[in-house]
Amino acid sequence: TEKIRIGIVGHGNLGRGVEVALTHCPDMELVGIFTRREPSGITPVGEAVSVYSLDSIDDFRDAIDVLILCGGSKDDLPRQSPALAARFNIVDSYDTHNKIPEFYAAVDAAASSAERTAVIAVGWDPGMFSINRLYGEAILPEGETYSFWGKGLSQGHSDAVRRVPGVKAGVQYTIPSEKAIARVRDGEQPALSTRDKHVRECFVVLEEGADAEAVKQAIVTMPDYFADYDTIVNFVSREELQRDHSAMPHGGFVIHCAQSASGVKQVMEFSLKLDSNPQFTASVMVAYARAAYRLHCAKEYGARTVFDIAPGLLSPKSPAQLRKELL
Ligand code: NAP
Repeated sequence: TEKIRIGIVGHGNLGRGVEVALTHCPDMELVGIFTRREPSGITPVGEAVSVYSLDSIDDFRDAIDVLILCGGSKDDLPRQSPALAARFNIVDSYDTHNKIPEFYAAVDAAASSAERTAVIAVGWDPGMFSINRLYGEAILPEGETYSFWGKGLSQGHSDAVRRVPGVKAGVQYTIPSEKAIARVRDGEQPALSTRDKHVRECFVVLEEGADAEAVKQAIVTMPDYFADYDTIVNFVSREELQRDHSAMPHGGFVIHCAQSASGVKQVMEFSLKLDSNPQFTASVMVAYARAAYRLHCAKEYGARTVFDIAPGLLSPKSPAQLRKELL
């Protein structure tokens, strides 16, 4: 059978992760990477991988089955996803949770009228975590669902730390509270505040002459990002930051605890422990690219999220093989 032909749009952490994930998928082939930057300045992970200007993407309309969009949620995807869904089948990892309804509507309109298939907001959260929240609620309605994130590097919070005057470099980890998780697993259905659920820990390199106490206060009192949490600020050298904090680990838990009858506790739990957040997210996107291709072949046009896609469509195995081997 013919391979599914993939294009990668944007070559950051996620774009590199998609390259790696595709090497594990014999049913897919990478046509090329498309970038807004000068293509000769991009170094692909794979040796024989072609890099093209994003401006030339329309030349590839007959050569690509699915584009995997690896741009940022804040500034790139709100423009790129609707524009490209009008010309290609796409998968993206849009993760601004509170803006998903508008984003979905824009992509759906573009994809539907162009008879293309677009799978949006794929990854682990939104993505795998969302599916598990849905399973918990749908199967055991008399209960409570808890999402915990970490221990993991948070890009948005790391950026916020780096913008504080006096900070030269820094990273932020979100750490779930062990105590809170233990209470949830116990089936207690506790009421947990933001502060109860997660701790934030920062590793900061100061500018020369900066006042450490002032920097610390600016971080821990920052509204929206840190004020509602217990935040630990550690000062480290540039070398320590480079050596100990360059990886991008992440993970977390979705725990649903419920009662199916009075006194009958039922706990559902899903967890991830990721050495590389972008490589995992990219792997999820690649599996959904397979689903996008199949949906398009079945003339199922428009936007979809993980809630709309049957799990079997993610697998390279046939439905018969899945029934025999995994059911
Ligand atoms: P990133 O590394 O900042 O890359 C984003 C885009 O910036 C790239 O596509 C690339 O586009 C451009 N870029 C990358 N490196 C650059 C450089 N050195 N100089 C100039 N431009 C550069 O972001 P990322 O870590 O891949 O994450 C992308 C998005 O994935 C995030 O915004 C987040 O929303 C999403 N995400 C979702 C999940 C989930 O669970 N759903 C998990 C993780 C991440 P060009 O090649 O076109 O320049």
